[in-house]
Amino acid sequence: MSRDILVIVEHWKGQVDTITYQLLAKGRLLADSLSVGLSALVLGHQLGNVVEILKDAGMDRLLVVDDPALGQAGVEVYASVIAEVVRSVDPGLILVGYSLVGMELAPSIAVRSDVIAMTNCTNVDFLDGEFVVTRPLFEGTVHAKIALEGRGPAVVALQRGTTPTVQLPRKEADLQSLTIDMQAIPVRTEVLELIEEPPSEVDIAKAELLVAVGRGIGDKEKIPIIEELAQALGGLVACSRPLVDLGFLSRERQVGASGKNVAPRVYIACGISGASQHLSGMSDAKMIVAINKDPNAPIYQVAHYGVVADLFAIVPALTEEAKKG
Ligand SMILES: Cc1cc2nc3c(=O)[nH]c(=O)nc-3n(C[C@H](O)[C@H](O)[C@H](O)COP(=O)(O)OP(=O)(O)OC[C@H]3O[C@@H](n4cnc5c(N)ncnc54)[C@H](O)[C@@H]3O)c2cc1C
Repeated sequence: MSRDILVIVEHWKGQVDTITYQLLAKGRLLADSLSVGLSALVLGHQLGNVVEILKDAGMDRLLVVDDPALGQAGVEVYASVIAEVVRSVDPGLILVGYSLVGMELAPSIAVRSDVIAMTNCTNVDFLDGEFVVTRPLFEGTVHAKIALEGRGPAVVALQRGTTPTVQLPRKEADLQSLTIDMQAIPVRTEVLELIEEPPSEVDIAKAELLVAVGRGIGDKEKIPIIEELAQALGGLVACSRPLVDLGFLSRERQVGASGKNVAPRVYIACGISGASQHLSGMSDAKMIVAINKDPNAPIYQVAHYGVVADLFAIVPALTEEAKKG
């Protein structure tokens, strides 16, 4: 098992997050090219359903740490347990999703395992004897390729959507139940409560059509022009993160790495530059239409249709047309 590619499984309420399947797909490519195994590690309590879902999902080994202390633990505890497992299985690479959980978990594992952490990555390959990661810089206008030297394992946190969610050929994994001495894990934080968001009236994740607005809107007072277009087209309004940070729209409408993942039939991006953290939440949209006055905006790299123009000229005109039916 030494030098395996190790995928950290993300799950919630007995269901496996899609990002895990993306990591497994990437992990399988790397493992095959390196002639090593693909392992997955799942941590938590009462993991029966998760193990049932994963046991034939295409990895060679499924490592399970099921302990009551992991039912409602914080990242500090998970990272320490993962570091223990890393010490005993000695993987070649640890793949984590760059999700809300993973963006905190990856550096925590690295500190405890004394290895490199590369977060916010859009790819990882094995080239000329080294792992090489790709990371966006400067709002996604530049992508750096970085080689990870040395044979020590590294933690790589991959953005959602950078590898397709494919189902690997089914194969029965070698199931290994690991026991960790939880008393020996240093704990300085305690999760007191998990507060679930009340069910929202707006569920952008289920919408067929989204009109998404970004910082290009400039002013909260201008949001109604986006709402009018969404309404005329029978869709919902979504947004990039700065609009939530600025208090223009509520968090339930945010698309991206720290927001929601959406996969509508049509995604109209108005005044959104296309930073990788945004793209990772909407790259599964079937048709992407971008309206941006900068012809070099990264959103045009993923858009199927683009209008290089001022959104204040285009959006009201589209609304007019949509209202005509
Ligand atoms: C850990 C982390 C997590 C993050 N998570 C998310 C996330 O979940 N979701 C997310 O969206 N971002 C996220 N971000 C932020 C992300 O990096 C970008 O900063 C953000 O997506 C940029 O938002 P934007 O495209 O609206 O703004 P900008 O990058 O400022 O782009 C505005 C665009 O509007 C265009 N524009 C301006 N005026 C007009 C006009 N009149 N007409 C047409 N076009 C116009 C400009 O040309 C520009 O391209 C995250 C960042 C970090 C570090």
